[in-house]
Amino acid sequence: MKKWVYLFNEVKEVEKVALGSWDAVKALVGGKGSGLLDMTRAGVPVPPFFTVTTEACNAYQKLGKFPAGLWEQELRALMEVEKKTGKKFGDPKNPLLVSCRSGAKFSMPGMMDTVLNLGLTDMTAAGMVKLTGNARFVYDSYRRLVEMFGSVVLGIPDEAFEHPLKEYKNKKGYKFDTDMTADDWMHIVDEFKAVIRNVQGVDFPQDPYKQLELATEAVFKSWNGKRAIDYRNATGISHALGTAVNIQTMAFGNMGEDSATGVAFTRNPSTGDKKMMGDFLFNAQGEDVVAGIRNTHPIETLIERMPKAYDEFMKIAAKLEKYYKDIQDVEFTIERGKLWMLQTRNGKRTAQAAVKIAVDMANEGLITKDEAVERITPENVDTLLHPQFNDEAIAEAKKTGTLVVKGVNASPGAAVGQVYFDADTSEKMAKEHKQETIMVRPFTKPDDVHGMIASRGVLTSEGGATSHAAVVARQFGIPCVVGASAIKIDLDKRLMNVGETVVQEGEWISVDGTTGNVFVGKIPMTTPSIEEQVELMTLLKWADEICARKDMRVAPKGSPTRGLQVWANADYPKDARRARSYGAVGIGLCRTEHMFFEPERLPIVQRMILADSSAERTAALNELLPHQRRDFDGLFEAMDGYPVIIRLIDPPLHEFMPDEEKLFEEVVTMRVKGETDGLKAKEDLLESIKGMHESNPMMGLRGVRLSIVMPEIVEMQVRAIFEAAADCTKRGIVVKPEVMIPLTGTVKELEWIQPRLERIASAVMQEKGIKFEYKFGTMIEIPRAAVTAQEVANQAEFFSFGTNDLTQMTYGYSRDDAERNFLITYQEQGILVKNPFQTIDRDGVGKLMQWAIDEGRKTRPNLEVGICGEHGGDPDSIEWCHMIGNNYVSCSPFRVPIARLAAAHATLTHRPKAAKKAVVKKVVKAKTKKVVKKK
Ligand code: ADP
Ligand code: MG
Ligand code: MG
Repeated sequence: MKKWVYLFNEVKEVEKVALGSWDAVKALVGGKGSGLLDMTRAGVPVPPFFTVTTEACNAYQKLGKFPAGLWEQELRALMEVEKKTGKKFGDPKNPLLVSCRSGAKFSMPGMMDTVLNLGLTDMTAAGMVKLTGNARFVYDSYRRLVEMFGSVVLGIPDEAFEHPLKEYKNKKGYKFDTDMTADDWMHIVDEFKAVIRNVQGVDFPQDPYKQLELATEAVFKSWNGKRAIDYRNATGISHALGTAVNIQTMAFGNMGEDSATGVAFTRNPSTGDKKMMGDFLFNAQGEDVVAGIRNTHPIETLIERMPKAYDEFMKIAAKLEKYYKDIQDVEFTIERGKLWMLQTRNGKRTAQAAVKIAVDMANEGLITKDEAVERITPENVDTLLHPQFNDEAIAEAKKTGTLVVKGVNASPGAAVGQVYFDADTSEKMAKEHKQETIMVRPFTKPDDVHGMIASRGVLTSEGGATSHAAVVARQFGIPCVVGASAIKIDLDKRLMNVGETVVQEGEWISVDGTTGNVFVGKIPMTTPSIEEQVELMTLLKWADEICARKDMRVAPKGSPTRGLQVWANADYPKDARRARSYGAVGIGLCRTEHMFFEPERLPIVQRMILADSSAERTAALNELLPHQRRDFDGLFEAMDGYPVIIRLIDPPLHEFMPDEEKLFEEVVTMRVKGETDGLKAKEDLLESIKGMHESNPMMGLRGVRLSIVMPEIVEMQVRAIFEAAADCTKRGIVVKPEVMIPLTGTVKELEWIQPRLERIASAVMQEKGIKFEYKFGTMIEIPRAAVTAQEVANQAEFFSFGTNDLTQMTYGYSRDDAERNFLITYQEQGILVKNPFQTIDRDGVGKLMQWAIDEGRKTRPNLEVGICGEHGGDPDSIEWCHMIGNNYVSCSPFRVPIARLAAAHATLTHRPKAAKKAVVKKVVKAKTKKVVKKK
């Protein structure tokens, strides 16, 4: 018979089935179940329980009913729990009550269902009153059961229960649930039972076993509820995993003022600070804390009333964090002074907290630096470099009074958007109307998640830092302010009042999740400085160290044995300086043509292009030379000591000329008006431009082809490069210029042009009496160059993949046309999995790259290889570049930090077995030590 159910003390059995892998344990008994099993094993006080496996859930989904043996196994396990607790399920003399809790492999906070207090019936309730002498507690528990059962098992909307309770409280003049007496709750139990009868036409079951069976089934079903499916779609969790069900003895936090329930993070999940953050309530149960209906107390204050339980809790929390080597998100309940732990899991955290915690834990020796780097995602880094509100604008807003409220800073980041007061409208406005939206609610529920994800930011008027809105926002990196109690939301009138200010639905507000500030109107944003983010800088330094470590790649002769370097694409000295500050160790692409477009240079460039003779052309070029020399000078200075790859002119010349159509219009207008002044010059210009017309200019006279037809331009450029390099060297700057020839298709092109350029290089060095390192190389962006790389490498001393053009020409797509016309259709139809202009197509373009590297290094074993297309900043493409033996990737300065992390990830993922083993050994050693200590 298949084992569907595991008892609290059967962690070993689960591990056996899971073949010792903790991941497989989680897959079988769920994250919550695995945590409960683990805590029980470690001697942490956990109420006795048993877990129904995810396999049972999946079998249920297939069969539409419990698989054979499941119910019998549940009953047997329940008997064991009865033995352990000395209580009996359904026995009025000493009734056992249990909760029925969902728990999938990956935590999906609040997305699925849980029912508390199962086992309460009219009979057992009466028995419990006798036993405890606390009728208020019993009927409070009972009404919770009837409500949860009604909503979770019978699908009755929460409002059906909330309304009668509210009305009753109003009638009695009560403000809080705590004002309710035993009689009041008894009355509510009856009302709730009536709700069930009226809405569903059934009676609340008085058979505890029926309750348990239906609750188990409901939890199974909740796996396929709308909000669970939405959540999995948003987080990429597989729909095939299924949920486990945990049946657990109730611990009662609602037995009076000596009882409490709460949740806590072992560190601050928003900032990462090493200080516990949590909330609790006295005399409360279950979701009361996270639901944000009552004002919670900060965890530190627990020490005042329950010092013993507080102490024990702090010790357990610290132990759990050490054991899991990660920030823990725990649930606890104190029943008449006795502490019970109900859940532990790795806490969801913001990008900022993720980085701080990883760095701190590495410094504390809890994890290795490698593990710290592995824990951070490229998205985390991206988030940290995202825009924030401009300080001056904030100061101004404070003065002018557009800063309207301050709430709890629940999830950092700046958001500006139009206000909507419910999830559906927020989603609709964002998706269909392409608006930037801010969702504003009194508080959020699991059904609101789709609206939150679609919004730029979230604002609530109730709840604290562990409320639903806060937890979800942090997980998805959505800026969020909660508990801004000064705002009064009127859902009927679709507006909110903040003192004097009224904000109508659709109006703009700005929400600062970092500070908790909320502004009316739009606040301008700025990009945060990386230097001020000390932990991020540290983490990226570790990432670089991983890449720089020797023997991290199995490399055939000549290939790099270390991980990738990250260089940047930069055209101007200011970009180069930014690239350096972001950690780039080279310039992989400087596009020289940008320099031709500057207003005072363009007329000279045009004169040069239109020149009738070589002499005339050279004269114009001589005027450009000092400008170019200055450009390069600044670049070399900014990159002192690092290589700078300068690409010779690449685009077709018509790009530097006035627009043909516009010029034609001007000429016609002049003719019609009979104006003659300057007409002749314009007519000549028009003729020349017409003469330059090509039907497919991107495949026409450009790149190296242009250099061969008109070598004077690149000759001037090379002279400018080397003169600047020589001047810089004289000033004590270390220069490493690398001259890159674009668009090579055959080595013959290089054979023609390169020696001419090298002669200029030598000449300049001789003139200046100075020597420095330099290289001549080429871009590989035409498939033929990749295919014949072995020959190309005879001339080229380095390769740089221009993956934009290489992708265009390999697929035969023109990028602009493809993205406009058919790429989306192709992705929708599954013809393309990813956009090949964003992520390198490993099977086609990627193979060409791999071939080119292998062939090129046959000729030149130490051939330097890089990539300078946009793919250089894409983590997946970076991994591929590592795998095929690139020396570096080059990307936009803003992507450099992300690329550094991605390069380290690729390096760690693909490190040779020997390197991996050494690390594993260390970890195993550490683990064995711990076990010994425990004993
Ligand atoms: P979720 O996964 O949505 O957090 P849980 O299964 O953890 O759902 O339960 C919801 C709430 O009920 C939590 O606050 C939890 O601590 C509480 N709870 C669940 N089981 C018990 C129990 N046996 N005794 C006391 N509280 C419980
Ligand atoms: Mg819940
Ligand atoms: Mg929970």
